[in-house]
This record gives sequence, C-alpha cells and structure tokens, in this order.
Amino acid sequence: MIYGWVPMARNKAMGSVRIGPMTFDVINVRGLCNEEKAPIFGIIEYAPATIQIDAGLCAQTAYITLWHEVLHGILVCAGVDEHDEQTLLALAHGVVQVLESNPDLRSMKRARKSQLVR
Ligand SMILES: [Zn+2]
Repeated sequence: MIYGWVPMARNKAMGSVRIGPMTFDVINVRGLCNEEKAPIFGIIEYAPATIQIDAGLCAQTAYITLWHEVLHGILVCAGVDEHDEQTLLALAHGVVQVLESNPDLRSMKRARKSQLVR
C-alpha cells in the first residue's frame, strides 16, 4: 500500500485533490479510454473537475498515474497549457519515489520552523 491510497470500488469517487483554485474528484473507471478509444491509465478533465484512473491498475501504477495527472493539473492551473509528456512521466515517478523514500519529508517544514533560533 502506498500512503494509504488503494483503488476502491469502480466508478466511485475515491476522494478529491485540490490543485490551485480547483478541487478534482478522483474516480476509478473500468476500461478507461481516450477519445480515440485507446486504453489509457488516467486523465484529468477540467470542465467536470475530475481525475479518472483506470480501475485495472495495480496500486503503485495507479498512484503514479494520479501524480502524473496532478502534475498536469498544476501546470495547467499555472497557465502552462503546453508541456512535455515525457517530463511529466519522469516527474510523476520521481515524486512518488522521493515521497516513499523519505516518509519524514512532510514533517521537515514543521521541524525546521521549530528549530529557528530567531
Ligand atoms: Zn499525461
């Protein structure tokens, strides 16, 4: 299990992710495909504010895919509509690896503040 994130019932919102001013529902979809009917792992859609993840993915691939779509969302919400897919693949894998290899990372910000002398 990766950070308590486990694919749940199909086609039900698993939770939500806030990116910039938007909140996206994260949804498992069985047999997720793009507009050309080609199978895809995930997709972020801005009009309905959803991130869809293929329900057939294993937990780690689904989590990396979620991060991949979140990174798309971060860039688009920042006005970077055109971005490189290969870079996002690398970043999604990198973010997940760093988070898993450094479980204390989130608490470092809090710890640093408490250690300031003045
Ligand atoms: Zn992508």
